[in-house]
Amino acid sequence: MSSRESIGGLLANASAPTFSFEFFPPKDEAGQQLLTRTIAELEPLEPDWVSVTYGANGSSRQRTLDAVLAIIASTELTVMGHLTCTGQTVDELKAVIDAYGDAGVTNILAIRGDMPGGASVPWEPYPGGLHSATELVGLVASRGDFSIGVAAFPDGHATSTPELDAQILLGKQRAGASFAVTQLFFDLGHYFELVGRARSAGCSMPIMPGIMPVTSVKQLGRFAEMSGADIPAKVAERLLSVSDDPEQVLAAGVEIAARLCDRLLAAHAPGLHFFTQNRSRVTREILATLRADHQPDRRSPAAE
Ligand SMILES: Cc1cc2nc3c(=O)[nH]c(=O)nc-3n(C[C@H](O)[C@H](O)[C@H](O)COP(=O)(O)OP(=O)(O)OC[C@H]3O[C@@H](n4cnc5c(N)ncnc54)[C@H](O)[C@@H]3O)c2cc1C
Repeated sequence: MSSRESIGGLLANASAPTFSFEFFPPKDEAGQQLLTRTIAELEPLEPDWVSVTYGANGSSRQRTLDAVLAIIASTELTVMGHLTCTGQTVDELKAVIDAYGDAGVTNILAIRGDMPGGASVPWEPYPGGLHSATELVGLVASRGDFSIGVAAFPDGHATSTPELDAQILLGKQRAGASFAVTQLFFDLGHYFELVGRARSAGCSMPIMPGIMPVTSVKQLGRFAEMSGADIPAKVAERLLSVSDDPEQVLAAGVEIAARLCDRLLAAHAPGLHFFTQNRSRVTREILATLRADHQPDRRSPAAE
């Protein structure tokens, strides 16, 4: 694989579910070392691609580019760079898109970003900027032969309705997107309802489920606040029942996420996208469980 492999093409031709990993750009040297180690531990699992997030208002622009370039230089992985349109002019966005292109990054996740304060704070377009992720998809498509991904929301977006979300996804596909990746979720039904609404609206692109295992009780509230994800009572109860033992909480988080992944694959989801939080252990453990059940011959066993 190379950094130039098109994720849209890869998904269109995939004969098995894809697996991909998301990282955030490190803030300092210690963060860089952690990310380097994590990628070294995850690369042997042969993910179909990896991605690097982007600060909502362009704040991490250089760090994201640097992290993407480092992955290209030191691995064989296919890489996708995220790009948000919050807080940036169209000219600034064009410069980032061109920088991705010049670096050989042909996969971009085009998302809007949020105002400081999160998704529920009313969003305001930046002067000289864009109004939505759909416009960003169009801008990216106009600058070169990029494979473009977009965001989708199984639990709905804070400022939308499920029906509007489906129309927005269709608009993104028409603007040039070829796949979507979802926000984290815990309710399998919500993911398939989203896919069903998108298909009814005429949107045919693959919608990759985004998987975020809960590894500490503190994260329960934080994830719900950050992403709008509904945490089912059963999930919260299971984690709270072992809250005084961090190792057991982590084991329960892995078990819950692995069960969700297992059910997604059994119901023919096109793949799984793991939000790794720049750590490898939990993702390795979940994939080891899944590969034992779903595709034992596809890849080498997880590194210990
Ligand atoms: C997989 C994934 C990765 C992400 N990565 C990042 C990242 O790297 N950096 C980051 O800062 N954030 C990231 N986010 C978060 C994302 O920026 C927020 O969820 C944001 O609130 C919405 O982004 P969007 O691309 O869906 O926006 P949009 O598609 O623009 O939609 C946002 C809202 O605008 C309104 N809207 C848009 N289009 C229309 C329309 N045609 N008609 C009416 N209303 C409309 C709706 O209320 C809609 O809910 C990610 C999210 C996901 C799911």
